[in-house]
Amino acid sequence: MSETLQAVRGMNDVLPDQAAAWQLLERAAREIFAQYGYREIRLPLLERTELFKRSIGEFTDIVEKEMYTFRDRGDDSLTLRPEATAGIVRACMSNGLLHNQRQKVWLMGPMFRYERPQKGRYRQFHQIDVEALGFPGPDVDVELILMTARLWRVLGLRGLRLHLNSLGTPASRVVYRAKLVEYFRAHAAVLDADSMRRLDGNPLRILDSKNPALAAVIAGAPLITDHLDAESAAHFATLCSQLTGAGIDFVVNPRLVRGLDYYSRTVFEWVTTDLGSQDAVCSGGRYDGLVEQLGGEAVPAIGWALGEERIVELLRLQGLARDEGGPDVYLVLAGPAAEAVGLGLAERIRDGAPGLRVETNCGGGSFKSQLKRADKSGARVAVIIGDDEASRGVAAVKALRGREAAQREVSFDELAAELGRELQAQPA
Ligand code: ATP
Ligand code: MG
Repeated sequence: MSETLQAVRGMNDVLPDQAAAWQLLERAAREIFAQYGYREIRLPLLERTELFKRSIGEFTDIVEKEMYTFRDRGDDSLTLRPEATAGIVRACMSNGLLHNQRQKVWLMGPMFRYERPQKGRYRQFHQIDVEALGFPGPDVDVELILMTARLWRVLGLRGLRLHLNSLGTPASRVVYRAKLVEYFRAHAAVLDADSMRRLDGNPLRILDSKNPALAAVIAGAPLITDHLDAESAAHFATLCSQLTGAGIDFVVNPRLVRGLDYYSRTVFEWVTTDLGSQDAVCSGGRYDGLVEQLGGEAVPAIGWALGEERIVELLRLQGLARDEGGPDVYLVLAGPAAEAVGLGLAERIRDGAPGLRVETNCGGGSFKSQLKRADKSGARVAVIIGDDEASRGVAAVKALRGREAAQREVSFDELAAELGRELQAQPA
């Protein structure tokens, strides 16, 4: 096939057959956000490049090598958003939403990272993102984690494990950072080029390296957990005990540092063993310093993001991605008189039985070919109208899926009520 017709590498089409799982996930998430009092925020896909550099940090995979950055016709450097937090913080700051106010918001949509495409890792992918700004926690940290746990429960997902850690404050990290640099310098011979660069810029990032050759040296590195300041340690202890109190299982993972610069204190990640090496389905953390770093007054905040592609794949693997199926009713319209009343009649059925999905035959065709389409559509009932029926104001109703296969006549006036009674009383 010509290259023109191929989707851009690492960017996927979600075809109608696959959309049900996405809808399932997004609907469940929306309902849960409403239950917790979080409100939607919608933002541009493009932001100034500078925003991501200053928030995510220069020494991160995203800023070093993954951003889709270009100059627009006015010579401004713009970047397709690689994640949602920076834009949300920017929008809250520039719209004054953090002045004597707190915000609980969510956003869902596409993100862009120039990564090496592989299963579970794409260049355009989708996140559902939640942020609480103005809350020092740890109560809100617990709430955010409870929302994720509820989402897994509502979807019926099994086998997800919560990893939890605290990064302390930037001030407390200074001591730890020095120890880490000392340790990695002693092992400089085994470090790769990325890690050598990060050694001066941000040595914590080395702990987040995906290079298997570094696994052993990383495993021996000093633990941040042993270097927490007293307040962060107390914050973490309360978080752990409140989670336990709320019935959430977790493992403390002192190696969990997360890929972005702006995190402080709480960081967490939900992982699965079902997806191979792309095992993180949802990650989050506290970023108390970010608003100030971007020039505002200090505002404590925390958020998480889940990868929709990875959750959709889990839904499929675990047999939870039920297809919505076809229509309930297929309207067969054979002949000009039938076609003249058909679309209007379909509207009357939709008005009178709003729960039903009604597909109208479009584009004509013989009785036989239309009935074949009706059968293929998955509809439970065919409503058949020829010119004779049209002139008498009746339709032949034929069950397509077992039960009473007999055909009967129903007047146009009674059709909606009759179909509603029959089909809604016994869900497919
Ligand atoms: P990873 O370690 O897998 O690269 P990350 O730390 O870069 O993940 P975040 O930036 O925290 O991920 O994004 C949150 C979630 O978004 C991840 O847990 C993952 O489920 C999903 N995600 C991140 N990058 C991609 C991608 N390129 N393709 C698909 N999903 C992704
Ligand atoms: Mg990544």
